[in-house]
Amino acid sequence: MTTVPEFGRFFLPGPTEVHPDILQAMLQPMIPHRGPQMVDLLEGADGPLRELFCTERPVLVGTCAATGFMEMAVRSGVRHRALSLVTGAFGERFAGIVETAGRDAIRLNVPPGGTIEPDMLEDALKRSDVDAVTAVHSETSTGALAPIEQLAAVVQEFDDVLFLVDGVTSVGGCPVRTDEWGLDFVFTGSQKALALPPGLALGVASERMVERARKIPERGAYLDVVAYQEAAARFQPTNTPGISTLYALSEQLKRIAAAGGIQARWDRHEAMRQTVENWVAGRGGELGFSYLPSEERRSWTISCLEVPEGRNGREIAKDLAREGWIIGSGYGSLKEQTIRIGHMGDHTVAALTELLQVLERVLQ
Ligand SMILES: *Cc1c(COP(=O)(O)O)cnc(C)c1O
Repeated sequence: MTTVPEFGRFFLPGPTEVHPDILQAMLQPMIPHRGPQMVDLLEGADGPLRELFCTERPVLVGTCAATGFMEMAVRSGVRHRALSLVTGAFGERFAGIVETAGRDAIRLNVPPGGTIEPDMLEDALKRSDVDAVTAVHSETSTGALAPIEQLAAVVQEFDDVLFLVDGVTSVGGCPVRTDEWGLDFVFTGSQKALALPPGLALGVASERMVERARKIPERGAYLDVVAYQEAAARFQPTNTPGISTLYALSEQLKRIAAAGGIQARWDRHEAMRQTVENWVAGRGGELGFSYLPSEERRSWTISCLEVPEGRNGREIAKDLAREGWIIGSGYGSLKEQTIRIGHMGDHTVAALTELLQVLERVLQ
């Protein structure tokens, strides 16, 4: 039997822990999805969601996994060929969707933990004839944080190339300045830095993304960015949404505002990243832990650490689970070699500090 950990001890890099007040909000009764209550619900979420994405554009709200909006990005945003920046499993997923949607993907790969830097992107774009670039901001499989602002600036030097960004473990956990950076499409999922139950995708599309989509007839129906954009302008859902997840969203947006707003949320996540960095610089490093990504390229929401010589990431995660603390083992080929601590959402520096102490104890 699996034991349910106490609240504040569930550091999986998604889904992350959901506050009881949010779960409670989901128990509200159903409402007609074409009635005024639905419009109120979506209109109420609109302002806070724009703040979250730092945008003046409407935020598209879908009740599907984040991968749904990744597919939307491709089907509505890639005409023929994309340059896919592959820094880990989620970058590879993005490239794979480009191909399964019948477009070409040219992959730009880096070793695990690495990031694609602006000069590499510029070289690749000069060499390849593409109409879009796909990228992952915070690569949850390796803990690496891409320099998205600088990459966006490079993409903008090229004519008619859209920049499509997976912000699943960055939006809400570190600055994502959609309009200022000029992102054409950026999306997230509810179960990561927003600490909501899974099942919600949120995204923002630039004007030129929507214009391009209009000219791609085979962009599909259910995940059509044009339909989403038009519905969002009227605070309407496209189809019957998972209404309970919208209640959760509405409640969480209130909680974020009450806790000091988006800047306070970023600050708390930065402090959590620094907590792990300080630990690795001290006791954790003495025990043999080191970072997979380099300094300046570390996610604020997930820390991926190489485990000490002779230890196994999966075993360490199991040992912690026996103590009632949940973390992620490594992802894919990094399963045994690394651990991943998902310090995102509503987690605190205090609980993270306690987790690191338990980690020290189980290693003895
Ligand atoms: C979790 C995650 C996804 C996939 O989210 P789903 O909701 O499972 O589709 C995509 N990208 C990144 C970076 C993630 O961390």
